Amino acid sequence: MRNLKEQNWNGTPTPFYYYDLDLLKQTLETASTEAAKYGYHIHYALKANSNEPILKLIQQYGLGADCVSGNEIKQALANGFEASQVVFAGVGKSDAEIKIALNADIFCFNCESVQELEVLNELAQQHNQTARIALRINPNVNANTHKYITTGLEENKFGINTWELPEVLNLLKQLPNLELIGIHFHIGSQITDLQVFEQLCVRVNEIQQGFRDQGYHLKHLNVGGGLGVDYYEPESNAIPDFAAYFAIFNRLLQVQPGQVVHYELGRALVAQCGTLVSRVLYIKKGQKKNFAILDAGMTELIRPMLYQAYHKIENLSSHLPEQTYDVVGPICESSDCFAQNVPLPETHRHDVMAIRTAGAYAEVMASNYNLREKAVAIYSSN
Ligand SMILES: *Cc1c(COP(=O)(O)O)cnc(C)c1O
Repeated sequence: MRNLKEQNWNGTPTPFYYYDLDLLKQTLETASTEAAKYGYHIHYALKANSNEPILKLIQQYGLGADCVSGNEIKQALANGFEASQVVFAGVGKSDAEIKIALNADIFCFNCESVQELEVLNELAQQHNQTARIALRINPNVNANTHKYITTGLEENKFGINTWELPEVLNLLKQLPNLELIGIHFHIGSQITDLQVFEQLCVRVNEIQQGFRDQGYHLKHLNVGGGLGVDYYEPESNAIPDFAAYFAIFNRLLQVQPGQVVHYELGRALVAQCGTLVSRVLYIKKGQKKNFAILDAGMTELIRPMLYQAYHKIENLSSHLPEQTYDVVGPICESSDCFAQNVPLPETHRHDVMAIRTAGAYAEVMASNYNLREKAVAIYSSN
């Protein structure tokens, strides 16, 4: 970020996404070192950010890929990930996407419903293949995060409920083109209360015991992703506490001899390396409030509008005394507001604004609503 603040952006069109690849490297270094202490495998969740330079770097640190669409599988393979390191998740895999994954012979399909298992078996049969699968089980653990990014409760659409497992295991005996190699969990995103992962471990142990009681020995345990980042202090807390995170699983997860534990981290790896850089178009002074109208909006970063997410906003140009602003975008929607009542140094037209922690679930969710141009990405590295 020092880098971003020091540079002179005169003449650079805004908005753009700025990616600090040095911070990404440090984050990857920390995550992979901490995971290696316990022999854990990390798969990067491409849906957080699928830009090529970012994928290439992540692949160099030996991570696998967690994909949720056929195009993500293609993008992972095109950027150096081995098919044997690719897992495919998602509650609604289309036949065409399944065929892409079968053709590539990916490591594992994380399956989420009875009907998906039947369809996958049929397509695998047509390909003369046996598909390796893990059952995505809904552990009914509350992630204590925003309701739109909670996925591990029975009311959510994701995963197979534990009461369905006897039926599923019976069905699997009749599906010869599927090989059950593990179980999979993913309970939500932006989880900052690490006790949630303790509860997950307890549930995984119980569920695993159920499988063992019935004579199933599962080689792979996939506990998903969801580790949160600090949106409030992006600078002083730039790298998530991977040591504490993995230590919880090491302490509580009952891993059988020969079993491999997998993680699927997205946000925790890439969120802090990205910043959305924008310019102020207009200041609109009101009796009740002042608006700072930016040239970036929900088309570049929709998280505040979609799930009331907080992003730190800084004015890189002004050092004047502070005033309070509603920071909004140019889109024709009242919800196109990044934050209300933000204290900022007195702000003027053409000031450069940084919206922090925009490396994950920002550029990947961009749209061209209002026929807007796609914002470019700029990468910095020493
Ligand atoms: C989105 C997703 C992830 C990554 O979640 P983060 O919160 O970004 O770590 C992992 N696994 C699955 C199945 C997902 O859908």
